Amino acid sequence: PPYDLTGRVAIVTGASSGIGKATARLLAARGATLVLAARRESLIATLSEEIEAQGERASYVVTDVSQADSVDAMVAHAIEMHGRLDIAVNNAGIGAEVHFVTDMPEDYWDRVMGTNLRGNALCLKYQSRAMIASGQGGAIVNVGSVMSFLGCPGAAAYNASKAGQLSLTSSASSELAPQGIRVNLICPGVIDTPLHHAIKGNLGPEVFDGVKAQTHLRRFGQPEEIARCIAFLCSDEASFVTGTTLTADGGFH
Ligand code: NDP
Repeated sequence: PPYDLTGRVAIVTGASSGIGKATARLLAARGATLVLAARRESLIATLSEEIEAQGERASYVVTDVSQADSVDAMVAHAIEMHGRLDIAVNNAGIGAEVHFVTDMPEDYWDRVMGTNLRGNALCLKYQSRAMIASGQGGAIVNVGSVMSFLGCPGAAAYNASKAGQLSLTSSASSELAPQGIRVNLICPGVIDTPLHHAIKGNLGPEVFDGVKAQTHLRRFGQPEEIARCIAFLCSDEASFVTGTTLTADGGFH
C-alpha cells in the first residue's frame, strides 16, 4: 500500500491533542513506531496504550519543546527505546489569545515564539543530529498554518511565529538535503481541534462564520485530513518533495 512506514521510528510533538494525536494514530497504522511527545503525561500515556493495543508500537516522553534539554531528552528517548529516528512531525503549538500589537503582552509574545518557532528550531537541531548520525536520512514535517502567509487582527504573535516556520523550513531543507533529510511545512486552514475552539471562544464565533463562507468547501477540516497530508510528506512517495509547503485549507481565499 502507499505511504507504508513499516520499520520507521517517528516522533510526533503535540501528540496529546488535535492534529498531533490524529497524526500519531495514522503513522502508527501505517507501520511506524511512534514516540509521543507533549507536556500532559496522562494524555500521551493513554494514546500510547491505545496504539499498542492495536498491535503497533509506541512510547511516550513528557516534553516541553521550548526547552533545549527537554528536546534533547526527547530525541535521546527515541534512540534509546527504538534505536533510530527516521521521521519527525513538529506539530506542538499554542496561540489562542487575542492581542493587538499596540497592547502585546511581552510574556505572551515570548511564550508563543518560544513554543512555535524556537521550539521548532530546537526540534530541528536535535532531530537532524540524530538523523545525520544514523546516516540513513529522514523526513521532517513542520506544522505551520495558512497564517504562515497571511495577517489578521489580534494574532500577530501567532502569525509571526507561523511565518517564521516557513523560513526555518526552507533554510533547514537547504542545509539538510545533502544528508538525505527532507524538511517540509504543512499549512492547515481552520481545523476542528481544541485550539480552534479556544480561538473561537476568544474571537467570537461570527468571525469563523465569515471564514467558512470564504472557504471553497464551506467547511472546516478534521485533524485526520491533515494527518493524511503529513503521512504523505513523511513517506517515500514524497521522495522529491523538500523545502516546500503543502497547504490544506479547503480552498481559503
Ligand atoms: P491543540 O491545542 O489541539 O494541540 C496542540 C498540541 O501542542 C497539544 O498536544 C499540546 O500538548 C502541544 N503543546 C503545546 N505547547 C507545547 C510545548 N511547550 N511542548 C510540547 N507540546 C506542546 O491544537 P491543534 O491540534 O489545532 O494544533 C496543532 C498544530 O497545528 C499547531 O502548531 C497549530 O498552530 C497548527 N495549526 C492548527 C490549526 C487549527 O485550526 N486547529 C490551523 C493551522 C495550524 P500539551 O498541552 O500536552 O503539551
